[in-house]
Amino acid sequence: MTARAEAAFTALNQAMERNTPGCQDDGRFILDDQPADSLEYICHRCPLLALCRDYAAAARPAGGIWAGKRWSSRKGQS
Ligand code: SF4
Repeated sequence: MTARAEAAFTALNQAMERNTPGCQDDGRFILDDQPADSLEYICHRCPLLALCRDYAAAARPAGGIWAGKRWSSRKGQS
């Protein structure tokens, strides 16, 4: 993980101590066949959206939906 991704992850984790993410306990965010745009509305009202997006843009996680989209470069993902 890059230093930028580590810093973004730390900031996101700290914010999660004060705010509940919209995706908490929602297993759809980790399903491989879940279209990202079907969950975008949850992210757009999440108090952690900006920090989540910062982390995902830096780390480009291979799995899951982050800030309303998938960030890996695998073909066929939205
Ligand atoms: S913005 Fe990030 S933390 Fe918030 S609901 Fe979406 S994936 Fe979860």
